[in-house]
Amino acid sequence: MTDLLHVDGLVVDYATGVRALDGAELLVGRGETVGVVGESGSGKSTLGAAIGGLLPGPARITGGEVRIEGTAVGRLDARRLRRLRRDRLGFIFQDPIGSLDPTMRVGRQLGLVTGDRTRTASLLESVRLRDPARVARCYPHQLSGGMAQRVAIAMAMAARPEILIADEPTAALDSQVREEVLDVVFALAAEVGTTVLWLSHDLPAVARRCSRVAVMYGGRIVESGPAAAVLSEPRHPYTAALARSVPGTAAEGERLAPIPGQPPVLTGPATGCSFAPRCPVAIELCAESRPLATDSSGWGVLCHRADEPDLAGATR
Ligand code: ATP
Ligand code: MG
Repeated sequence: MTDLLHVDGLVVDYATGVRALDGAELLVGRGETVGVVGESGSGKSTLGAAIGGLLPGPARITGGEVRIEGTAVGRLDARRLRRLRRDRLGFIFQDPIGSLDPTMRVGRQLGLVTGDRTRTASLLESVRLRDPARVARCYPHQLSGGMAQRVAIAMAMAARPEILIADEPTAALDSQVREEVLDVVFALAAEVGTTVLWLSHDLPAVARRCSRVAVMYGGRIVESGPAAAVLSEPRHPYTAALARSVPGTAAEGERLAPIPGQPPVLTGPATGCSFAPRCPVAIELCAESRPLATDSSGWGVLCHRADEPDLAGATR
């Protein structure tokens, strides 16, 4: 599999002094579906925005880069960046209304994206909206949250993107609508061959829907590998804690129960493993030196003790 996307040692600092990404490393092959998970503040949205050259004004890339098929996103001029976003990337955000133009009817917005108004009805049908003709005549505020998110998905998928970045697209929806909307996203992506990066808090759904999971902590990807296997038999103590924090009886999609202790807010490079203060199996080395990724057959773990055979079991 050729790598479509390479997040190569990416460092992002906000003007407030917060280091949101601290050398994030992620390789994604064409057609993969990757669930990016991690506690609030771990850097998921910053990573998603950086991939599309969409970082907000106060954010700066201060190390590493994002490459899409070898092209460094950060080195593109404004025109090429716009073309990259238009031709190759798609985005869906948590707030669908915010990604639609409030002053324009849905049909007209879709027509502008595709340049072809005759496709509007079929696009709205593809996201399983029941009355496409009526929806096309609506303004965004006349739609329910679930309908608006389907329209936003139709807009994002209309250009058949190579990479879709979906930042908690269903967080605002109730659980049944959430499943339906995710069904639509993943079905359309499979049909078009789109590579999906789904930023999510929903571990069970990631295990079911994604080929791969990338677990973020303190602005780094601390574990990445086959989604179902990583989440059921994690090798990184943080992934183990995260998986344990999913309440078995709670409905899917609920926010995760907290892990004891606080996640870090970095203002520069972490000196060691940033999970060390909360880690049940940390040793002296963990506070002193940054772990490097070990990778065995597509399963990477950023932990000094990853190679110890009995460790993973002890933390689960
Ligand atoms: P959540 O699960 O809550 O969406 P996240 O994993 O998406 O969290 P980010 O939003 O990427 O996390 O935030 C990473 C870090 O960067 C946090 O410490 C956050 O406070 C900081 N940060 C994010 N956006 C900004 C901003 N616009 N200005 C300053 N700091 C920011
Ligand atoms: Mg976020």
